[in-house]
Amino acid sequence: MTLLGAAEIRALAAELDLKPAKSLGQNFVIDSNICRKIVRLSGVTSKDVALEIGPGLGSLTLVLLEEADSVIAIEIDSRLAAQLPITVASHSPRSADLTVINQDALQVNELPNDPTVLVANLPYNISVPVLLHYLEKFPTLRSGIVMVQAEVADRLAAKPGSKDYGIPSVKAAWWVKISLAGTVSRSVFWPTPNVDSKLVSFVRHTSPADEKLRPIVFMAIDSAFSQRRKMLRSVLKGWLGSSATVESVLEKAGIDPTLRGEALEIDEYCSIARAVDELAIRF
Ligand code: SAM
Repeated sequence: MTLLGAAEIRALAAELDLKPAKSLGQNFVIDSNICRKIVRLSGVTSKDVALEIGPGLGSLTLVLLEEADSVIAIEIDSRLAAQLPITVASHSPRSADLTVINQDALQVNELPNDPTVLVANLPYNISVPVLLHYLEKFPTLRSGIVMVQAEVADRLAAKPGSKDYGIPSVKAAWWVKISLAGTVSRSVFWPTPNVDSKLVSFVRHTSPADEKLRPIVFMAIDSAFSQRRKMLRSVLKGWLGSSATVESVLEKAGIDPTLRGEALEIDEYCSIARAVDELAIRF
């Protein structure tokens, strides 16, 4: 197995006449040490079916193939998706264990095998929706590590009451416990991005309520953060309709109406959703 270095990444891109597209978040990792670090931190083993979103030219894919039972890689760019098996075949004896899916990751709802671990340098413009989509659709994913824009990492890992706490933090907490797993220098990418990057790791936990309640929980979260400086008693009117309804919901849920959305944990959003459900409120 040989890994991809800076010169080879540039040569591959030139061969494909690939001009990295900002719209697809195409910043490729040119330092194999960072790929090794990501895979080590992921804890992936020979029992795992690893899922990689946006494999690009394959820097991380090659390292994943050294450790995982198999790798499923989803890449939207058809030139990159077509090249990946060729690159892997010339660098690794494990090419038979790679499945490449040439699709928009946000449109994928089924996979040929149940993935157990997600390891990805995510396309930055869609990192949160991609993460939430895979946590929702693939419950066999028990853990993972993703590289995202630093600000997004801080938001995902934020705790109630902090300025970074928001919709991504609470929604992700439905499925997983998130931790920051290190910062990544801009110099490991080609082209050099104009934002900083961080690693975020996660481990799945039991969801705080029945899956049937989740749509209402997520509506409560969206509503509470729609104007984050407003108190719950005022901001939830946009969703629940009237002050009287908001009051009865918050009273039943045991939540102080003068709090703001940023003060509430996922469990408290579940209490609000349960109250909405039990009071048979329709919207
Ligand atoms: N994993 C590679 C690396 O570390 O060098 C590339 C990472 S690059 C930040 C993001 C990759 O995601 C690109 O290859 C891009 O083409 C791909 N991508 C962007 N949007 C996508 C989408 N909606 N679905 C699947 N792949 C996507």
